[in-house]
This record gives sequence, C-alpha cells and structure tokens, in this order.
Amino acid sequence: MDRIDFRSDTVTWPTASMRQAMANAPVGDDVYGEDPSVNALEALAAQMLGKEAALLVSSGTMGNTVAILAHTRRGDEAILGIDSHVMMSEAGGMAYLGGVMPRPLATDRTGKMGLGEVFKAVNPDDPHYPATRLILVENSYGSKNGYPIEPAYFQQIHNIAQENGLAVHMDGARVFNAAAALGLDVREMTQHLDSISFCLSKGLSAPVGSILCGSTDFIHKARRVRKVLGGAMRQAGVIAAAGIVALEDMVDRLTIDHENAQKLAAGLSKIEGLSVDLDLIKTNIIFCRVNQDLNLSAQGIADELKKRANIWVDVDDVWKLRFVTHCWVGEPEVDLLLKHLRLIIRI
Ligand SMILES: *Cc1c(COP(=O)(O)O)cnc(C)c1O
Repeated sequence: MDRIDFRSDTVTWPTASMRQAMANAPVGDDVYGEDPSVNALEALAAQMLGKEAALLVSSGTMGNTVAILAHTRRGDEAILGIDSHVMMSEAGGMAYLGGVMPRPLATDRTGKMGLGEVFKAVNPDDPHYPATRLILVENSYGSKNGYPIEPAYFQQIHNIAQENGLAVHMDGARVFNAAAALGLDVREMTQHLDSISFCLSKGLSAPVGSILCGSTDFIHKARRVRKVLGGAMRQAGVIAAAGIVALEDMVDRLTIDHENAQKLAAGLSKIEGLSVDLDLIKTNIIFCRVNQDLNLSAQGIADELKKRANIWVDVDDVWKLRFVTHCWVGEPEVDLLLKHLRLIIRI
C-alpha cells in the first residue's frame, strides 16, 4: 500500500502472522462456548487485564454499549466526560438502546473530570432524580491527545463510586498505549475498575474486535446483552486468532509509536503557523492547531498533503489537524510528513 495514513491507528491491516493464525485457527460454535480460539483469547485477555473473565465483541462501541447496558437499568444515569468517545462518537447508544441518561461533565486538558464535580453529580436517592448508577472513564483520553491518565485518579473515582454504590467502567480502547506511556503493567490501570473494554483493532493491528473484561458475574450478564444486540458470533475463532497475535506480539512495540509521535510533535512545533501542546503528547495521538493567519485551513493542508505525497491526515475542525502514529507509519513517514508540511506552509 503506497498511501501513508496518519488519520488513525484503526487503519492498520492484520500482520502476516495474524493472517497465518487466522487461516489456521481452530474454530467451533462460540454461541455454544465451543470455539477454542475465542476461549483462548478471552482467557488471555482476562489474565493480562487482571480481571476474572472477558468477552470478545465486534467493536469498541459494542464493548462500551454492552458494558453500559449490563451495569444499568432504563432511566439510570451515567456520569461521563463531555468530550469522551462514549458521549461523542458512539451514536448515542446508551440512550438509544438502554434508556440511560448521560450526565456529561467538563474535563481538564488531560481528560479528567473534576473529582468534586463527579461527587456532586451523584444524585441523592430521591424520586425527582434519575438514579446515578455508573461512572464512565476513558484511558488514554482520545480527544486530549490520547493523554494517559495515571491510576491514582481512578482510585479516587473508585472511592466515590464505592461510597455511592456505583459501578466504574473504563473505555480503554487504547489502555495498552496508556500503560506503555506510564511504564506500568496494564493491570495497574485496571485494578480500580468494575469493567474495561479495549480495542484489538487499533495500535494492536488486529483486523476486527474488542474485548470487554470484568468479574465472572458481570461477563455472564454481558454475554446475554451481547446476544440481544446480535453480537454473538459463531466461528469467531478466525477473528480471535488475530487477537491473540495482537496481544502476544503487538503490545510491547507500542512505545515505538509513542517515540515517533514525540518526533512528529517536536517537528510540528518548529513549523511556524502550527502549534502543538508538547507537554500533552505522551502516546500516539497529536492534535495540531493551524494558525488562523495562514492562508490555508486544516482542510487545505490535508488536501495538499494528499495531492503531493498521498499522505492522509485527519481534519478535526477548521483549524485543527489530527495525526496518529501506528505500526504502519514509522520514522521515514514522519520525516516525509514534516518535509511536505514545511513545503506546503511556506507557500
Ligand atoms: C476507537 C475508540 C472506541 C471504539 O471504536 P470502534 O470504532 O467502535 O471500535 C471507543 N473509545 C475510544 C476512546 C476510541 O478511540
């Protein structure tokens, strides 16, 4: 593929060893619990995440939606970041399917809701109010440069939840990036959570799939919700086989993506007309502001990059670009992107 794609880490194709594992995967009927590859992936994921059980789902959105439906009843309320993925980018699934009220709270520049605000958002047990049932957190925090939030914060969120009988679910689409950036075992990121979902198909490069983890009881419930949503699959071992390779081979290399993001961010910050919050770039996502004095908008720059060098980037808004590093875009691609940006912006 000659396209150079910085739009997202979702664009990664399965690796050669994933394709081989998929071709040779032992399979069975997973709705009967008989697919050995799915069972192996779920066991491996549960162990790596430090939870009792795990469930393979088709997407990150399904992982979060299944978790929300399993934690709540209709009319309950869920506290979450106003710019979180669940709030902004999952088609309103919690309301559409679960009748759950979102209670969006502002987040700081690293994606944290204020603890005082979270505490205040828990409704008293009074028939006027929706029953607060769930706190949704996200790590790394996608809309804040994929910032990796440290476990101490989730310990405090967990304390508020415990005091009020709430559950905590983490949208951990990129939790392995967060753990790598903080130099922690991913289990240290998950110990304060009731459930977590993460994506196999982003930086870990599997073609399809996410995993939801939690207690045995919770996953039992979640399995039923997944069935309701039409997400129970039969010989899903062909998907799971790639997921196993993702967990075994692709986790340790995420730091390379982070180093490339550092290099890209440093280069961007030296181009007059572009600016980056360098102190917030810790993982593989970079939001880059385009100075409004330039005679080019973010879209204009993206169009030029595509035309000149087949480099694809994400336009976040009129004056903002997003770049994501992953196993398909290494140092040479970063250098090429910077070179073309310098040429385009000099005009
Ligand atoms: C990608 C992503 C998801 C899930 O996305 P799908 O496209 O449904 O797999 C959830 N949360 C965050 C933060 C994400 O980046």
